Amino acid sequence: MTDDRVEQVTCLGCGCGCDDIAVTVREGRIVDTSPPCPLGRAWFGDGSVPWQVLRGGQPVAVEEALTEAAEMLVRSRGRVLVYVGVDLSSQAQRSAIALADLLHATVDTATSETAAAGLLAGQRRGRATATLGEIRNRADVLLFWGVDPVLRYPRFHSRYAPEPPGVGIPEGRAGRFVIAVNIGADRAPPGADATITLEASEEIGALSLMRAALRDSRPAELPPPFKQAADLLPRLTGARYAVLVHDAEPTAEPRNPLRVEGLIALAQALNGPTRAALCSLRAGGNRPGAESVLTWQTGYPMAVDYSRGYPRYEPGLRGLNRLETGGFSAALVVGSPDFSAGTTSALARIDTIAIGPRATQASFNPRLAIDTGVAGIHDGGTGYRMDEVPLSLRPPLRGQRSTVEALGGLVKGIRLLGQPA
Ligand code: SF4
Repeated sequence: MTDDRVEQVTCLGCGCGCDDIAVTVREGRIVDTSPPCPLGRAWFGDGSVPWQVLRGGQPVAVEEALTEAAEMLVRSRGRVLVYVGVDLSSQAQRSAIALADLLHATVDTATSETAAAGLLAGQRRGRATATLGEIRNRADVLLFWGVDPVLRYPRFHSRYAPEPPGVGIPEGRAGRFVIAVNIGADRAPPGADATITLEASEEIGALSLMRAALRDSRPAELPPPFKQAADLLPRLTGARYAVLVHDAEPTAEPRNPLRVEGLIALAQALNGPTRAALCSLRAGGNRPGAESVLTWQTGYPMAVDYSRGYPRYEPGLRGLNRLETGGFSAALVVGSPDFSAGTTSALARIDTIAIGPRATQASFNPRLAIDTGVAGIHDGGTGYRMDEVPLSLRPPLRGQRSTVEALGGLVKGIRLLGQPA
């Protein structure tokens, strides 16, 4: 029995996008990944996924399913929701959005709910950010704002910061000053050079006071947690390159969504006395890819409505909200997102098609389901790291059907029905 070893595989288990993974394959199954990472191992698993095509729960030929799906979607043209998941390559996401354009559909993505506050704040203010490579090479002061990356981004510490040496930080950890800000149950890394603890209700005030301290306008008397936060300022302004690290995903502690805007504003204000960037940690799958593809296709990163034949931005009325209030008569779900009970029951009331990895196991029982490969495990193409750097995907397994192929078949079926390009 011979093992195959595939080198330089990109892992999408979290937003770190490690592209140095060696995957060992035996008899069509993944049996090892290296370097070891618990989240990465869980992402790859043994690589087995279902390869079925089902109509009403019964097997059907893929051509037949695609023809029926095309008819179903064309009947509902103008009242279709296209929902784009994250376990897809950017090429598959692009195909799904092209279908939405063709069908005059509304597009929502699996990232829109969690990323909305950060995306909207970035549109209002802009963002001072950096690639992970820049952080590794230049950050001499790191402030972890209510996040310990080791838990959900296991190799962040060793690949990017604070551990590895960088071009401007040859001593690695010894050359960096690390500040940990615990916020309620959201703990920052242990072993920091300075640590403070805030309640979740205090973080917006603390961020405002830190900015006020930058302008020398902090109040003379402050309660202890706010004083400690304001006292961190000289460390940040004294940096050659300060990086604020926060978790852009939902956290254990219920937190104020406005914190993202506060962190953006602080990073921007620090660019004056010094150089600073905000690093937003993103979870697994091709999340920034969904936002990037939608932006380059339509100009907007989420919540796009094509029903008038051109893209309109509806951030206050996203697809799933409209779905639950009966706004669509058909849905095309691409990828395998997790849905709430409300969304699942709304999907059960309309014509629903699922195309993507594990589509036949979807909890919402689609009328038609076509299984395809997982991005980076069976499907090649491009995936985006959390810092929006695109990476090539090098799948270690050969799949039976790619998402791009299945969506291409659907486009062909729609065009055969006489829909304009
Ligand atoms: S840190 Fe994230 S991207 Fe890197 S191997 Fe682990 S799960 Fe995969």
